[in-house]
Amino acid sequence: MNEKHYEVVIVGGGISGAALFYELAKYSTAKNICMLEKYEALATLNSKGTSNSQTIHVGDIETNYTLDKAKITKRTAKMIEKFCLQYGLEDKIMFKHQKMALGVGEEEVQFIKDRYESFKELFPYLELYSKEDLKELEPKLVWADKEQTIERPEPIVAMGAKGEYTTVDFGAMTEELAKAGQAADESKTTDIFYNSEVEEIEEIGDKY
Ligand SMILES: Cc1cc2nc3c(=O)[nH]c(=O)nc-3n(C[C@H](O)[C@H](O)[C@H](O)COP(=O)(O)OP(=O)(O)OC[C@H]3O[C@@H](n4cnc5c(N)ncnc54)[C@H](O)[C@@H]3O)c2cc1C
Repeated sequence: MNEKHYEVVIVGGGISGAALFYELAKYSTAKNICMLEKYEALATLNSKGTSNSQTIHVGDIETNYTLDKAKITKRTAKMIEKFCLQYGLEDKIMFKHQKMALGVGEEEVQFIKDRYESFKELFPYLELYSKEDLKELEPKLVWADKEQTIERPEPIVAMGAKGEYTTVDFGAMTEELAKAGQAADESKTTDIFYNSEVEEIEEIGDKY
């Protein structure tokens, strides 16, 4: 039997495992780390580019996030952005798109306006878009006909941003995190094993 010992063994090579692998390799004192992946490649399941919506959920327009939750997600989502910028991956695997949360009808319009007021300090780039703004930005939201003569009757407003990184290919980022982790510090052992399913974890003395 081939016996190898590591300080840390990460089970699963999706975005979570690869992010931990990178953090430990780059920023911790751990000298030997390995990641075990059940399949023949990283990110073949949930983290695969085509398995999710590729959205960087910062918390600015996610209307189901409280302000307290957005403070946490902002910090963690910015780690995606910082990593990609640090490794020159912008416009390769991370992209900017316009984004907005829309309110239609009196109740939703008030909700978006109130939310904008309480979130704009945490996200200073946020903008509030009036019906007139939306005619320019997303005309199909405002006009009820192709000829653009009839406006939808309800009040409408949106909060959003134009110049922010919104999208990342989590599958490609998994690969980049693994690569950067292995290149982070030559004095460390950073192994990745494929086709390596963990079937059982047993505690033996002070080890696993
Ligand atoms: C439809 C959809 C849309 C989504 N949209 C978004 C989005 O827009 N933005 C966002 O942030 N998130 C989104 N998510 C969520 C996001 O995709 C997941 O949270 C994320 O990919 C999970 O990553 P993970 O590394 O934890 O899991 P996974 O990517 O599933 O990785 C787990 C890995 O562990 C391996 N593994 C499992 N068991 C073992 C074992 N016993 N031994 C060895 N290896 C093992 C697997 O083979 C796999 O490679 C979406 C999810 C879905 C389903």
